Amino acid sequence: MWSLRDWWRRRLLRTGGLPGAQWRNTLAALPVMSGLNRAERRRLGELAWLFLYEKAIHSVQGVIVSDEMRLRIAAQACLPILELGLDSYRDVQTVLVYPSGFIVRHEFADEAGVVHSVVAGLSGEAWERGPVILSADDVLAENANDGTNLVIHEFAHKLDMLNGSANGLPPLHSGMSVAAWAAAFEAAFEDLCTRAARGETLPIDAYATENPAECFAVMSEAFYEIPQVLNAAYPDVYAQLVLFYRQDPGQRFQGIPCVPSDT
Ligand SMILES: [Zn+2]
Repeated sequence: MWSLRDWWRRRLLRTGGLPGAQWRNTLAALPVMSGLNRAERRRLGELAWLFLYEKAIHSVQGVIVSDEMRLRIAAQACLPILELGLDSYRDVQTVLVYPSGFIVRHEFADEAGVVHSVVAGLSGEAWERGPVILSADDVLAENANDGTNLVIHEFAHKLDMLNGSANGLPPLHSGMSVAAWAAAFEAAFEDLCTRAARGETLPIDAYATENPAECFAVMSEAFYEIPQVLNAAYPDVYAQLVLFYRQDPGQRFQGIPCVPSDT
């Protein structure tokens, strides 16, 4: 049975939509969209239109949030939920866009109760029950399937947070196995950490070795941008992500070359 929200969304889709030429230009400028078929592009456009209607995208520190910027954010944010639906982002009300890599100060208490203050330069953040924060420069710089994608990374964290803090285990669909998920990701995480400690070149962004939450977010970036590379390196992770996202980007990219990040 349709909810009131579904009715409202269908009404919105009947009465409006994204500007066709601008939307096509946005998709053409983002190689991660390569291989989407006609029906997928149409569905992505509907999701992006609703995303822009329901979520507020705010400028911070005077950055200009252009139509191009808004469409880029919406398109990349909606790609992971193409088969999951917009309610997957029910905890996202706001996207904040900063002009460039921004400086944050975080405080945390260690096991001894000592509070540490860490200052770091970031290109994005996802807050639990809070906004997604993106650097405008990084959003506009996305132009290659190199295995890194800021928007997909931050929104993967929001999917992870649907069942609490980001920990690399988002709520799995019925029929999926937590044990299979954990086995696949733990093995990949350990392998990445071991290879990184040896100074080896990794198949995906080394940021995956930070912790299991970052591992899931980085694996999600790789899943959409360099699916063949991820599938070759960690086929069990790839198989779990196909089940979770209900998409198989490797099928879409058949014959389309992609280049892994050299980090
Ligand atoms: Zn992250």
